[in-house]
Amino acid sequence: MTEFDFIRKYLQNQQQDHQVVLGIGDDAAIVRPQAGCDLCFSADMLLKKKHFFESITPEDLAWKVLAVNISDMAAMGAKPKWALLSAGLRELDEDWLRRFCNSFFDLAQRFGVTLIGGDTTRGDLVFNVTIIGELPQGQALRRDAAKVGDDIWVSGKIGLAASALNCVLKQCDLPSEIFQQCEAELLRPMPRVALGQAILNVAHAAQDVSDGLAQDIGHILAASNVGAEIWADEVPTLPSLKAVLPREQWLQYTLAGGDDYELVFTAPQNYREALLAAAQKSDTPITRIGKITDTGRLKVVNSVSDGTEIALISLGFDHFG
Ligand code: ADP
Ligand code: MG
Repeated sequence: MTEFDFIRKYLQNQQQDHQVVLGIGDDAAIVRPQAGCDLCFSADMLLKKKHFFESITPEDLAWKVLAVNISDMAAMGAKPKWALLSAGLRELDEDWLRRFCNSFFDLAQRFGVTLIGGDTTRGDLVFNVTIIGELPQGQALRRDAAKVGDDIWVSGKIGLAASALNCVLKQCDLPSEIFQQCEAELLRPMPRVALGQAILNVAHAAQDVSDGLAQDIGHILAASNVGAEIWADEVPTLPSLKAVLPREQWLQYTLAGGDDYELVFTAPQNYREALLAAAQKSDTPITRIGKITDTGRLKVVNSVSDGTEIALISLGFDHFG
């Protein structure tokens, strides 16, 4: 199979999106944004051995490559619309490509994303997705908008993906049932697009949790020039996971593990009811885990009532750290 067979057979025959003026097949794609919308762009790259194991299935790989990008749109409160996929592949194995594409388009369709272009070259399993979304003009959820006194909220459960990864790396032991629940989060994160859009007019700052909760909250603090207090025991977890891991490990994986693709956001205290309603409408559990302070630093304590500060070995993942 040649590069062009692959493009024609697997990439070109997708459902058409009426805003796509020109899709795959020309030198570049053309899209027409809706009036009153800002366009929102992001790219995320995944590399073998850095972001996934070589043994990963093509279905799980395709899912993750796209999901982490959709998650960036969710974090801005944007509706993901169009994606470009650049792939470095060792060979054009038709069975592998069919499985990869089925999973990629399955996820894309769930979120109304159209693949409008990309590039295919020989490489050692490198993937980059560029994603474009739409936002009501001027309403994006930015990192620099947190205010002193805001509550800090997080969606879903945190630390499961990191626990699975550490179990694979033989850093911890998990009973197989718990491992499987955690591994599902690691392999198939579900981006929180509905929540991101539901909190557009309510939340101040937001971002997705990809490199570790503490580090990611730190980005909001730095951009907004504020501090925060986080209550570790309020961070939503899998109770059976928390029960089986030594506390040190649970804290590390939950507060600094990463790969969660949940949303962390800040909002004024008088919006608690509105937020819980928005979360329910988008079918996404959210939990209040702390508050924005004027201290200029992040302080993680055990709980609301036990203010003992927790020192983390690392705040999160850094490729060059
Ligand atoms: P060019 O030579 O201009 O770079 P290509 O021959 O690489 O164009 O690509 C032909 C068409 O196929 C273009 O529309 C390009 O965006 C699309 N395309 C190539 N690879 C991919 C891919 N992996 N995913 C999506 N679209 C792709
Ligand atoms: Mg060209």
